[in-house]
Amino acid sequence: MEPVDVAANLARVRARIAAAAQRAGRDARRVTLIAVAKTKPAAMIDAAIAAGATCIGENYVQEARAVKPLVAGRAAWHLIGHLQRNKARLALTLFDVIQTLDSTALASALDRLGAERGAPVPALVEVNLGGEASKRGVAPEKLAGFVEELAALAHVRVEGLMAIPPPAGDESEARAHFRRLRQLRDQLGLRELSMGMTDDFEIAVEEGATIVRVGRAIFGART
Ligand SMILES: *Cc1c(COP(=O)(O)O)cnc(C)c1O
Repeated sequence: MEPVDVAANLARVRARIAAAAQRAGRDARRVTLIAVAKTKPAAMIDAAIAAGATCIGENYVQEARAVKPLVAGRAAWHLIGHLQRNKARLALTLFDVIQTLDSTALASALDRLGAERGAPVPALVEVNLGGEASKRGVAPEKLAGFVEELAALAHVRVEGLMAIPPPAGDESEARAHFRRLRQLRDQLGLRELSMGMTDDFEIAVEEGATIVRVGRAIFGART
């Protein structure tokens, strides 16, 4: 297999984000790129950070625990995979942002831990846009109630919404999912909108994403 040039890939992804932002009349500086490193070694993560990546995404607490001590560069680490309540304490030693807040039980665990450390836990609420049984996340109909519940927690800071939309047959379908998430975000008066991956991040940026999560286009295919 060709060696992966992480720096060149990162630069290309950045340029594509900038072009998409420009098409939509947006400021590309309002789009945060998360380099999704799942299963990739520390050397590649360091290559991304050296090339300017400021945020690293991981799906599993255990994987982050194994790789993060080997990473020399500094970045903000985002948890983008499901978090079990019993791993919340460990997760907060590794991650700066939890993008997958999806239950009251997890929210209270994070609230307790945030109180303990004396600093609120930045989090995004994961939305199950398509109501897919295979996916985590809060159903759109339950979102407003859930976010209201979270507002009562002093040590969880809800910054926005995150979703992995259902597979889209074509671009207009993908766009419709992103629009829906944006509407939900707007209705709730939240700031961040985490949507868009390797196959669709440009559409997501055009539709208002403030955070895109890109793995393969930066680090190469996962084996
Ligand atoms: C793997 C993953 C990504 C990145 O996917 P790519 O297709 O590799 O860009 C983004 N978000 C989540 C939640 C993921 O699990």
